[in-house]
Amino acid sequence: MSFDVIVIGGGPSGLMAAIAAGEQGAKVLLIDKGEKLGRKLAISGGGRCNVTNRLPVEEIIKHIPGNGRFLYSAFSIFSNEDIISFFEGLGVKLKEEDHGRMFPVSNKAKSVIDALLKKLAELKVEIRTNSPVKDIHFDDGKTSFVELKTGEKIKAYSIVIAVGGKSVPQTGSTGDGYAWAKKAGHTITKLFPTEVPVTSFEPFIQNKTLQGLSLRDISLSVLNPKGKPLITHRMDMIFTHFGISGPAVLRCSQFVVKAMDKWNLPEVTMSLDSIPDKKEEELFQEIAKLIKAEPKKAVKNTLKGLLPERYLLFLLEENSIDPSIQCSAVSREKLRSFARSCKQFQFKVNGTLSIEKAFVTGGGVSVKEIEPQTMASKKMPGLYFCGEILDIHGYTGGYNITAALVTGRLAGLNAAIYSLNENRP
Ligand SMILES: Cc1cc2nc3c(=O)[nH]c(=O)nc-3n(C[C@H](O)[C@H](O)[C@H](O)COP(=O)(O)OP(=O)(O)OC[C@H]3O[C@@H](n4cnc5c(N)ncnc54)[C@H](O)[C@@H]3O)c2cc1C
Repeated sequence: MSFDVIVIGGGPSGLMAAIAAGEQGAKVLLIDKGEKLGRKLAISGGGRCNVTNRLPVEEIIKHIPGNGRFLYSAFSIFSNEDIISFFEGLGVKLKEEDHGRMFPVSNKAKSVIDALLKKLAELKVEIRTNSPVKDIHFDDGKTSFVELKTGEKIKAYSIVIAVGGKSVPQTGSTGDGYAWAKKAGHTITKLFPTEVPVTSFEPFIQNKTLQGLSLRDISLSVLNPKGKPLITHRMDMIFTHFGISGPAVLRCSQFVVKAMDKWNLPEVTMSLDSIPDKKEEELFQEIAKLIKAEPKKAVKNTLKGLLPERYLLFLLEENSIDPSIQCSAVSREKLRSFARSCKQFQFKVNGTLSIEKAFVTGGGVSVKEIEPQTMASKKMPGLYFCGEILDIHGYTGGYNITAALVTGRLAGLNAAIYSLNENRP
């Protein structure tokens, strides 16, 4: 049995690759190890499937800190706006939410996946589920055939590897593709967890003092060993029983990993600004005025409303201010240090949860060895890569799925062109 194009992996990148190849008139086989296609897509965006993002391309690239710039050429051929038109063409109406995030109007990932499956059926793409691929074989310096776990061998003129990274392996992404890429001569850059909760040994975390507390619209930074911010993100966060999580933390997480690695540190300092719209001096003056105006009232009551109550009490205690003490008894010095804590509460973190628990895998097939306009391997004719297996990683918010769909489009299209035009005997 032989095909023009075999796509391995039915996540967003593989589904798009199979459609793009099918649209070129190629005979396409899509293989997935799972019972269903698009299992990770189904749980993305809280189960509503965050298909893409509507920010300008320049912004999208900024939100893909892991080699986003590699995607400039790809975006000039197939962009986020093309993704939107593509889905609308499939009959999936989309709506824009905060930060440019695009979701199906139905709020159901199923409607996105069903539309992709319908298109695959229209294009007569053959689909094999429950079929784990064991290996890819290369002969005479070219891509040759796929070997399933059952031992079955299937020939193809070109093969698209779309098997994802190593995160959330229960969705099928178990990192199988790295060995195949290596065999073809590719470099795999160091894998690491990104978009992942951060862990801490700080006593207030270990004692669960703030567990479950959410802080809205805060500014969170990862500091370098000299105390300067490496990155700052303004979003929400939550304290957990092991550390911190929530959107701002997920975005900062890869910088924690990288800082620990770069400077060989057991711990990294983070700084939390809980009142980002005010300067420290302005805040101090405001607090001092409030305290002066109500000398007999308890500090915690006077400062109520400044911060969520649990966090206010915590920061007062951190600065050795008894929350029940009268305002008149608090020294200016302590108020100054309290204002400083509101603006830059610093604490140590010692890593993240595992790559398996991360939303996204950082690192992967080096983009230096991939043609940016076609997703073709520079090492092996007939081999193409797309999606999270590549050393490309973005923030959550539709950026990873956008990268998967854009690279999938190009990989499928060019794998078909290669098979149909260039590689016929
Ligand atoms: C909970 C969660 C929420 C997320 N939310 C967002 C979000 O809001 N926005 C965003 O941009 N990104 C989000 N992501 C990330 C995004 O879902 C992934 O980056 C994206 O799915 C990657 O697509 P992919 O096609 O490369 O790989 P995957 O979606 O991982 O698909 C890979 C496929 O390959 C198959 N496969 C693997 N090995 C084999 C093999 N040996 N043989 C056959 N088949 C194989 C797997 O079964 C799987 O179906 C989220 C991830 C998670 C886990």
